[in-house]
Amino acid sequence: MMDQATPGPGIPRQRTPLLLVLSGPSGSGKDSLIECLERRGLDVFRVVTVTTRPPRPGEIAGRDYIFVSAEEFERLRIGGELLEYAQVYGHWYGTPREPVRQALARGKDVLLRVDVQGARAIRQLCPEAVLIFLTPPTEEELIRRLKARRTESPVELERRLKKAREEVASLPLFDYIIINYPDRLEEAAAQFEAIVTAEHLRVHPRRPCLS
Ligand code: 5GP
Repeated sequence: MMDQATPGPGIPRQRTPLLLVLSGPSGSGKDSLIECLERRGLDVFRVVTVTTRPPRPGEIAGRDYIFVSAEEFERLRIGGELLEYAQVYGHWYGTPREPVRQALARGKDVLLRVDVQGARAIRQLCPEAVLIFLTPPTEEELIRRLKARRTESPVELERRLKKAREEVASLPLFDYIIINYPDRLEEAAAQFEAIVTAEHLRVHPRRPCLS
């Protein structure tokens, strides 16, 4: 019998970590999917991003976002401490660089949640990242979700919808698409996990590196 602990000749010994990027329009369900994946025990390092947006009711600083002033954001940006940053609906959002680099260096899979501009920036910086686009099945469903949040004014809602239409046009940038059907979050999570499993089974692994 083959020794399970010893890979055969030519069989890789080391698992290469993945840089997973979850993106999609505001209201596509990125946060709910991440919560669901965490409940199901997906073992990834999740990077908490920095924003100048004020917290929404129920949001917790350090868990949902690191909330900073515009001055502090600018300091981080100029200091090169952000891997990518984007202005979304008048507020700045950015991914801290160092925690991502350190987690990948430890061999840990990393999960980033960014808007489509952020996904494009990560693709340029790190072509080996795995880009996953999450979308509701229809525009009507997206509108329903944005309205259900009750956090956006009608003007804001219209802005988000316009941007969502543009974002859907960026689909070719991505490696995978997951359709988030109503009441079928577990299915979306299972698809996400399937992507992670398949990516770890690649004969030629992607090797995400960040300069
Ligand atoms: P919200 O204000 O609804 O939490 O987020 C607005 C948009 O900004 C969402 O599409 C969200 O995924 C995106 N976002 C959150 N953090 C980041 C980040 O660090 N970088 C980029 N580019 N987008 C982000």
